[in-house]
Amino acid sequence: MTIENLDGEQLRQKYAEERDKRLQAPAGRKFKRLEQPGHVVDLHLPVQPREPVKDSVDFTFVGGGFSGLITSARVKEAVPNANIRILDQAGDFGGVWYWNRYPGAMCDTAAMVYMPLLEETGHMPTRKYAMGPEIHEHTRRIGRHYDLYKHALFHTAVTAVSWDADLKRWRVQTNRGDDFTTKYLTVGTGPLTVAQLPDIPGIDSFKGKAFHTSRWEYEFTGGDRSGAPLTGLADKRVAIIGTGATAIQCIPELAKYAKELLVFQRTPSAVDIRNNHDIDPEWFSKVAAEPGWQQRWLDNFTSIWALTGGRPAEIMQKYDDLVKDGWSELALRIQSVFLSLKPEERNPQGVMLAIERSDDETTSRIRARVDEVVTADPAAAEGLKAWYRQLCKRPTFHDEYLQCFNRPNVTLIDTDGQGVDRITPTGLHALGKDYDVDVIIYASGFEFQNTSFTSRLGFEITGPEGTLTDAWADGMRSLHGRQTKGFPNLFLTQLAQAARFAANVPANFLESARAIAGVVKYMEENGKQTIDVSKEAEDAWFDLIVSAAPRAQRDECTPGHYNNEGKITLDKPSPSGMGSGYPGGPVAFFQLQRDWTKRGLETGEFEGTVVA
Ligand code: NDP
Repeated sequence: MTIENLDGEQLRQKYAEERDKRLQAPAGRKFKRLEQPGHVVDLHLPVQPREPVKDSVDFTFVGGGFSGLITSARVKEAVPNANIRILDQAGDFGGVWYWNRYPGAMCDTAAMVYMPLLEETGHMPTRKYAMGPEIHEHTRRIGRHYDLYKHALFHTAVTAVSWDADLKRWRVQTNRGDDFTTKYLTVGTGPLTVAQLPDIPGIDSFKGKAFHTSRWEYEFTGGDRSGAPLTGLADKRVAIIGTGATAIQCIPELAKYAKELLVFQRTPSAVDIRNNHDIDPEWFSKVAAEPGWQQRWLDNFTSIWALTGGRPAEIMQKYDDLVKDGWSELALRIQSVFLSLKPEERNPQGVMLAIERSDDETTSRIRARVDEVVTADPAAAEGLKAWYRQLCKRPTFHDEYLQCFNRPNVTLIDTDGQGVDRITPTGLHALGKDYDVDVIIYASGFEFQNTSFTSRLGFEITGPEGTLTDAWADGMRSLHGRQTKGFPNLFLTQLAQAARFAANVPANFLESARAIAGVVKYMEENGKQTIDVSKEAEDAWFDLIVSAAPRAQRDECTPGHYNNEGKITLDKPSPSGMGSGYPGGPVAFFQLQRDWTKRGLETGEFEGTVVA
């Protein structure tokens, strides 16, 4: 039996071997921060001098990425006179799309659902999968459309937030000397904010040029994020560390322009076909002619993605896939395998069987594709095959990545799960060999869930009963992942203990914005001062989240940021809660939120909260 013909059990065994090899690697899996939160270096825009603000506003949003933009927009619609403030460390709106300007940056989720508020702003995405500059421009479009620029304080990092019990308002202090109060506070700083480097010996000793993908130095590499040639690399030997979703996108650009490119791999990504294409304006105008089109597309995408959750109720429904991207196709394959089972097998166990079989088929096809594409170097082809279930790591889609390894100037240094073990003044050391290079690019990702929420925020939130760090010392606690007891009028916009719908992150924010806007509207129209979560409701939500069937798959997975580098705890949420979501899945969670908000607006009772 060839390796490509492994049956399910043999595959499982191979996956376990590959996982264990990585978990047991002597170098370990340690990271360190590139910068401390609040002390980021902006290479794109100069800091504009301004006077500190010392006033009071109604609504403050920390974070000017998609979550801040969407929520502010919805709050403005709900409470037209709301006095809003948006704070961000960056020099403009955009969040991850402001910082991540590496060449080739694009989104793996179809633009028709990934780019929020398309209908409201009237924008037609140019391509099925949009490139980074277009997405960043869209964040700015939202800012202009909703007149949010006048509310923004850029290059501003919050240093402390505390509850003023007399005023019943939050006091916000920043690194620009601002000191103001706000009735409501929303924190939406995103999961990919704190860039990390591998914590390997000698990392500071390198004498050449080194930077992280989220701080791309075009002044050195030449070119720009819109695709201009990276002329500065024409005579350079470049190393890139990491082969995750970011690296998959920038390696093809580096391969085109670097004299030599060495790709240091610890674990390969599973790279499926992308098939990007321009959006036909005629087709788009027909789609967009129907009011409410984007919400229908979003609901369609969410429903189809929910098939990956293994819930029998969803699998028998008929879906007309509007989006047809890599994610929806991945989910629908599960359904088609389920429907191919014998009638007596179509039961809850059958759903799990369908997930497993469909994954085996897909990952085998992706591995076979490596052999089809990478023909110049069979050893590289072997090294580029991913031996884990597709959803253990972020699935990736690209039509130029694997092809790079046929180029004479590109070499895969597959460290067989061990990683780069040392940086030297002149280069890297891996698998017992030195590699001298001029440049090291770190595509090593972001601090995700192995540290506390407040540590990644870079500031403490002190409520009437104490700090958020203490409140979450044993793991995140919340109602709906959005409010937490003892922190009145504070909203968090994030994925954990909520839908955890990672295939389309902005969709989570659209739903939470609806709920936040509903609460704020009710409170403002009815003269209310505070909303807090009841202990009973928070406990019940916590129990529900923790009771969610542990995803055995996570346990079996090769280490990475999805499973806290192989240290996921299934009995309680991680400090940031990242590993946990609503057991009913995103469709049910979004419906629960819509009903909760509607009932609250009608009756004044936002279940599980105390409004005063
Ligand atoms: P990741 O954390 O996914 O990848 C980091 C990479 O660095 C991994 O390949 C990791 O290997 C490798 N690495 C770490 N330490 C070492 C070491 N010592 N030696 C060798 N290799 C090492 O970060 P990314 O920036 O790629 O992606 C982060 C997230 O950003 C994604 O999950 C996704 O959510 C988002 N993203 C989204 C995109 C989109 O299309 N919307 C595009 C790009 C990113 P190992 O796998 O072994 O840990």
